[in-house]
Amino acid sequence: SSNLMQGKRGLIMGLANDKSIAWGIAKALADAGAELAFSYQGDALKKRVDPLAASLGSDIVLPCDVSDDASIDGLFDGIKEHWDNIDFVVHAIGFSDKSELRGRYVDTSADNFRMTMDISVYSFTAVMQRAEKMMNKGGSAITLTYYGAERIMPHYNVMGVAKAALEASVRYMAEDLGKDGIRVNSISAGPIKTLAASGIGDFRYILKWNEYNSPLRKNVSIDEVGGSALYLLSDLSTGVTGETHHVDAGYHVVGMKAVDAPDM
Ligand code: NAD
Repeated sequence: SSNLMQGKRGLIMGLANDKSIAWGIAKALADAGAELAFSYQGDALKKRVDPLAASLGSDIVLPCDVSDDASIDGLFDGIKEHWDNIDFVVHAIGFSDKSELRGRYVDTSADNFRMTMDISVYSFTAVMQRAEKMMNKGGSAITLTYYGAERIMPHYNVMGVAKAALEASVRYMAEDLGKDGIRVNSISAGPIKTLAASGIGDFRYILKWNEYNSPLRKNVSIDEVGGSALYLLSDLSTGVTGETHHVDAGYHVVGMKAVDAPDM
């Protein structure tokens, strides 16, 4: 633990359970002294998020379905009842119909394409429109992305297209909000077994592939993502914005991994 986030407060979006990447990030931030507010998607998740938030000393737990603009407004109205301003935002939200996270990308339906883009891309922009107005100078925001934005990954399909757009939106917001000293970055996490990931076809095979083929020869944990999020949300990274920061055991730099067997 450190005092890196002492005196800073912020919003965590996308906590579903203790396997969520948002949970790894929340723990790292709380451990460094941050004050946290949480949003959850629907009533079914409230009973999971309440105790997790309480265990980190937070009693600000508010509903927000990002597919509804009024719900995003409601979230920020709710935060303003507690705080006048915030220092950071964590957007750890993505969604696509799991029937399209298998098979061919080219078969994506118009409805699911639009919904995936709305929830997984536009929502971060919509949130930052509101957050900007109450963000302190030196503010910092992150979202979560995946290598399927840059390269073909099996079954990632429309979600890969969405993540590419999300990464582009991070760069444009870095420019827009940089004038006010607000930074916007993404973490490109390696595969982690979460609720959202369980919708992706052959996910166990993808985990194994990454473990065998990454330079560190392992998969990453939500706590490792949390450590990098702490860096991006703290004043350690005041020179960094618009970046896609890979927390993937190095997988994205590999062309062909060396064979570990001694005589091959
Ligand atoms: P998760 O299931 O724990 O979190 C996904 C969250 O998105 C949930 O809390 C869910 O409630 C929320 N969400 C979905 N639709 C929503 C809506 N309409 N309104 C509000 N919230 C909504 O899974 P996770 O893996 O922790 O996912 C977090 C982020 O990390 C996602 O953007 C995901 O694409 C990204 N990511 C995950 C992996 C991985 O392998 N798990 C890798 C790279 C990036």
